[in-house]
Amino acid sequence: VITGPSMQARAAALQDAMTERLAALVMCESPTESLPALHACADLLEPWGDEATGRRAERVIAEGMPHLLWRAPAPRVLVLGHFDTVWPVGTTDGWPFAVTGNSATGPGVFDMKAGIVQMLAALRLCAGRDHVSLLLTSDEETGSMTSRSLIEAEARTVAAVLVGEPSADGALKIARKGVARYEILVRGRAAHAGVEPERGVNAAVEMAAVIGVVAALGDRRAGTSVTPTRATAGTTINTVPETARISVDARAWTAAELQRVHAAVQGLEPGLAEANLSVTGGITRPPMEAAMAETLAATAQQAAEAAGVSLPPAVRSGGASDGNLTSALGIPTLDGLGAVGAHPHARGEHVLIDTMAGRAGLLAELIDRL
Ligand SMILES: [Zn+2]
Repeated sequence: VITGPSMQARAAALQDAMTERLAALVMCESPTESLPALHACADLLEPWGDEATGRRAERVIAEGMPHLLWRAPAPRVLVLGHFDTVWPVGTTDGWPFAVTGNSATGPGVFDMKAGIVQMLAALRLCAGRDHVSLLLTSDEETGSMTSRSLIEAEARTVAAVLVGEPSADGALKIARKGVARYEILVRGRAAHAGVEPERGVNAAVEMAAVIGVVAALGDRRAGTSVTPTRATAGTTINTVPETARISVDARAWTAAELQRVHAAVQGLEPGLAEANLSVTGGITRPPMEAAMAETLAATAQQAAEAAGVSLPPAVRSGGASDGNLTSALGIPTLDGLGAVGAHPHARGEHVLIDTMAGRAGLLAELIDRL
């Protein structure tokens, strides 16, 4: 067993190499929408992952999207991350990777390219990499439509999933809200607003009533939000609107709350006689509930002490990740093991360079305890 100071020293020795890799990875742009860019980024990552795991990568193509899997011979832990970003190709022209003092910035640096670099370093530092599968996906930012079944299949082979998404100021994430998304189509009947408005069934008026009902489904004390987001109605200024559309974003801490909202949205009834409602959509990511993370979080605290890293108390996050998927399968999942920094998906996105080696050491110590 490797003890604290030596893990700390071994991790620290990797710091410069990690910063170099981070620069290369950020400059290799990888928006979810660009297949050529994703393949180029996978080309960069493959040899790094091969070296870190001691195995060859399997490039799993799902509906055209390239995902990278290094499956362990005797899997016990799955280390999970994504290499796609929300930033289009060309973003680095005006905003290249740059280091100022202790801060590194660039598109995707915090979410989650620094996390990937740390995960690869952790695999080099840990003693038991033959028990660790590594999966890097390329469609997390758009909802993991093509990687979901792969993530779930690999998660089912292990006892714990460790997700390298950004931390919250260093804190791990033990719970995430679940998400449901809906489109509600309101159908009425068009009529001339001046000549015979009484013949119309006003879809906009019906829509307004539906928005009120939907917004009231939220429960602040339970932390459940139900937000009507986009709304459109009508065609011209002198026509009673025939149709209207409403988009709804719902989030909740528990599966029971998300189910309550789901049933209510599915059961919406029109208020206006002759108006008609149709609802599409549903639960896209189940909640990651804290019960599935608490034991792992306690182990992570011990690992942090061993690695000489101070870990603030774990937090709950409103945003979803692939940790939601694995946690919902009943597999202990701990998230936020990635970079320390700020402003994901924003131009000021950055990471604190001097935390990277310590975080890699923490992850390595955690893996060795599992
Ligand atoms: Zn992310």
